[in-house]
Amino acid sequence: MKAIPYGRQEITEEDIRAVIEALQSEFLTQGPRILKFEQEFAEYVGANFAIAVSNGTAALHLSVLALGIKEDEYVICSPITFAASVNCVKYCGGNILFADIDPTTYLMDIESVKSVLESNTDKKIVGIIPVDFAGRVVQLDEFKKLANQHGLWILEDSCHSPGGFFIDSAGENQKAGNGNFADASIFSFHPVKHIATGEGGMITTNNENLYQKLMELRTHGITRNPLKFENSIAFANGNSNLDGLDYPLWYMEMQSLGYNYRITDFQAALGSSQLLRADKNLERRRQIALRYSKELSDCKGVIHSSGIIEGHAYHLYVLEVVDRRGLYDFLRSEQIFAQIHYIPVHLMPFYKHQGWKEGDFPNAETYYSRCISIPMFPSMSDNEQSFVIEKIINYYLI
Ligand SMILES: *Cc1c(COP(=O)(O)O)cnc(C)c1O
Repeated sequence: MKAIPYGRQEITEEDIRAVIEALQSEFLTQGPRILKFEQEFAEYVGANFAIAVSNGTAALHLSVLALGIKEDEYVICSPITFAASVNCVKYCGGNILFADIDPTTYLMDIESVKSVLESNTDKKIVGIIPVDFAGRVVQLDEFKKLANQHGLWILEDSCHSPGGFFIDSAGENQKAGNGNFADASIFSFHPVKHIATGEGGMITTNNENLYQKLMELRTHGITRNPLKFENSIAFANGNSNLDGLDYPLWYMEMQSLGYNYRITDFQAALGSSQLLRADKNLERRRQIALRYSKELSDCKGVIHSSGIIEGHAYHLYVLEVVDRRGLYDFLRSEQIFAQIHYIPVHLMPFYKHQGWKEGDFPNAETYYSRCISIPMFPSMSDNEQSFVIEKIINYYLI
């Protein structure tokens, strides 16, 4: 049996053809395939607008910039996530408050968020960044209510949950990133995620002003829209006698401090091609989860798991186990490369140096002491999954 990673991309002949076609076209970047991918992705998640960017971290950075944060302001983050979903606030000069996770969903606990709000009334809290960890979508209708009461924006980190949904209080399915509750949602197209473009990311929103702002920030803060120009037509023409004419076509203005966070056309072509299989692959992930859930439910070493949750997108299948280190090493010796998601962000030295310490978020820390993400990717074969299940069960028999 060859090595089995915890996650792996799938590249088909169609994907390769789509990329070659893009490479042979006139545009390697800033061409038509980016807008096409954005429109298809927006439709897939059910949002009005989508902005493709160079990676998920860039998506987080631009979103926080566009939503707004000042130096004396705070954002509430989850400690169980990839560090980028917290770092983005620091990039923009803002400050962090963490809320603990719910020990059964592994998602940011709304009760913990409420107590953070109550015990920090002296601080200006402006936003909240819930994470659809492992692919389970946050109950955003409840977060939206709380956000409205406190005047907070919501940035949903949906890197794990494209195609996933939660069920709102009216019984409706609400897809991750559909813009109905969060002000903006972000996705990553790193190869371990559901849709791979090499590096790549996406922001979705239903707010047109935010969309325009994000489009500018993605390209150096430049606008080419004459309705927005601040300098005069005469200035733009370089000639004080030409005041009555139109702005020349070359003219553009840099109005804010943006970046180059663009994706390329050949990456967008790969993304569009991958998106065609997104639903099929999501179904396969759910099948794999169902089998893990059934066949590991009696396993002695398993304390708790991702389980079977409607709408879960299963980027990861997480087990909380006894003797996690032993299981991890044993699986590695069998060429099964399980992974740990995540080391709590507040205990990363960068954040510890700012005052956080062990014991601050007990649910997150207990979870970290026991968690292990076992292989989960659509192209995993039934035989490979049998092998993984057998090895886990055997480990706890000995
Ligand atoms: C992957 C990931 C990111 C960052 O995405 P990149 O494309 O790697 O920059 C952010 N948040 C979460 C939860 C992720 O899984």
